[in-house]
Amino acid sequence: MRLSAYFLPVLKETPADAQIVSHRLMLRAGMVNQCASGLYSWLPLGQRVLSKIEKIVADEQDKIGCHRVIMPTLQPASLWQESGRYEDYGKEMLRVKDRHDRDLLFGPTNEEVITDIVRQYVKSYRDLPQVLYQITWKFRDEMRPRFGVMRGREFLMKDGYSFDVDYEGARATYQRIFESYLRTFNRLGLTAIPVKADSGAIGGDLSHEFQIMAETGESTVYYDAAYDSLTPEQRTFDHLQALYAAADEKHDADNCPVPADRLKSARGIEVGHIFYFGKKYSDALNVKVAGADGQAVVPEMGSYGIGVSRLVAAIIEANHDDAGIIWPDAVAPFKVALISAKTGDEACDAIANDIYEKLTGAGIDVLFDDRNERPGAKFATMDLIGIPHHLIVGNKAVQESVVEYKNRRTGAREMIALSAVDGWIHGMRG
Ligand code: ATP
Ligand code: MG
Repeated sequence: MRLSAYFLPVLKETPADAQIVSHRLMLRAGMVNQCASGLYSWLPLGQRVLSKIEKIVADEQDKIGCHRVIMPTLQPASLWQESGRYEDYGKEMLRVKDRHDRDLLFGPTNEEVITDIVRQYVKSYRDLPQVLYQITWKFRDEMRPRFGVMRGREFLMKDGYSFDVDYEGARATYQRIFESYLRTFNRLGLTAIPVKADSGAIGGDLSHEFQIMAETGESTVYYDAAYDSLTPEQRTFDHLQALYAAADEKHDADNCPVPADRLKSARGIEVGHIFYFGKKYSDALNVKVAGADGQAVVPEMGSYGIGVSRLVAAIIEANHDDAGIIWPDAVAPFKVALISAKTGDEACDAIANDIYEKLTGAGIDVLFDDRNERPGAKFATMDLIGIPHHLIVGNKAVQESVVEYKNRRTGAREMIALSAVDGWIHGMRG
């Protein structure tokens, strides 16, 4: 992408009303635009990050055998009357009427719709287990939308729903998804702590929130210091279940199993939430499948959410410095920033253009600052928007046949001979 032709409305001033760093940086980097309270447009740079996260989340779901669907954002009130939640859900649910005066709602979550689908098609225990998921926009009329996309009213969520014939199956499914969540967050460059949680409006007893530690988090989490030194092999359901970590409302200081000198507390951002809730919806919607012995059984269910749009902000909270965002490679909107420090100089332009063609030819996402701007302004923009790998083509490219590489995260710099650029590009593809 040539920056001269891109749509990147970066802001010079720090937006006054943005309270947390991720919100400020998303506005300054031209990633989002506020349309109304809790409603955001995703501009090209933000859209790129969001869709990279979405892809990783989907990939990890697919890997464990979940199947992706798309359900409507508008749902009939009748299904929610069957489950009893139409009255219970309260003001967070946006209710609307269609032209025939029928009651609809903008889905805050989808248990009813998915249960209705399973009730229509799944007739035998042989068709189970099944996990269906979607990644779609949800609307919740939050009392206090704030912190930008961290707590929006319309937000992108991955929501999955599991159906099993019995409790053992449901528990095994829960564990499989629990562990896949750890891998998902890991691929996004985040270390998530799964904490025992209250099951909230959805109900149930086996429930974990996945929290990213950050000072700006809205939750308080209590956890065993052992979490800070886990090896990758220890990040399994069984091992983590045995370690203490609890959300504020579950933590009882008087009966905490962790000795005081090992108990830590920190602020967390909830990026995922999983529940097992048994037959709550399958019973209410009267779902029955034939069991192995011919008797009808009511499937056991769970639901599994990831806040995809909230993750964009959470990743920034965990990856920034005074100059701006520092994207992990996996979610970076562009992997390489190519900066021409002498735009207008024929020899320099020729070298920069040549490297640009090679990078795009190799399938690498590159943002090429070919604008007629001061070099300092170009460097500052690339730092602000957080591109992880910078290549700078300046005087030395012409005089000494070298370009400068800068690693955005470490600040480390090195010179790369023009003859070695092909090899460097090859390395970037890995
Ligand atoms: P919270 O306690 O933050 O309101 P929740 O318990 O209501 O979250 P769930 O119903 O479990 O959330 O939704 C699944 C995930 O969707 C959450 O873990 C969170 O990451 C994300 N999420 C929920 N509400 C919002 C919101 N208003 N804006 C952005 N993401 C959200
Ligand atoms: Mg909520």
